[in-house]
Amino acid sequence: MAFKHTYKQMLDKAYKELPEITISKKRFEIPSFHGRIQGKKTIIKNISQIAKTLRRKKEHIIKFMLKELATTGFEENNNYVFIGKFSGEMLNKKLEKYIKEFVLCEQCKKPDTFLKKEQGITFKQCEACGARSSVRTIK
Ligand SMILES: [Zn+2]
Repeated sequence: MAFKHTYKQMLDKAYKELPEITISKKRFEIPSFHGRIQGKKTIIKNISQIAKTLRRKKEHIIKFMLKELATTGFEENNNYVFIGKFSGEMLNKKLEKYIKEFVLCEQCKKPDTFLKKEQGITFKQCEACGARSSVRTIK
């Protein structure tokens, strides 16, 4: 009677015995901006989503982008409007730069980090490996 397992039970058992890493390991996909150019403005529709994905404050990403693009902008409904015409390629390159500098761990390159300010210095702290590095403060 010991072998009276159904096929499904056997499958369930097989899945349970797989090392956990194959189940929980999610690949980090670098998000990209979606938007359009309208006249002399560039309208970004998904900045809130990107902030959520990266677990960063929207304001922080905006500050970075404004500095990189050397422009100004404003929020409009849920969109963010940059003054000037910027291609998607350029904007996403800047976003990648942001991610490299403020999101990915310097040691293990995972995105599981958070920013923490201590005595005026901002640190990028990794939850995956515990590494910590200082990052610049965007004014
Ligand atoms: Zn790390």
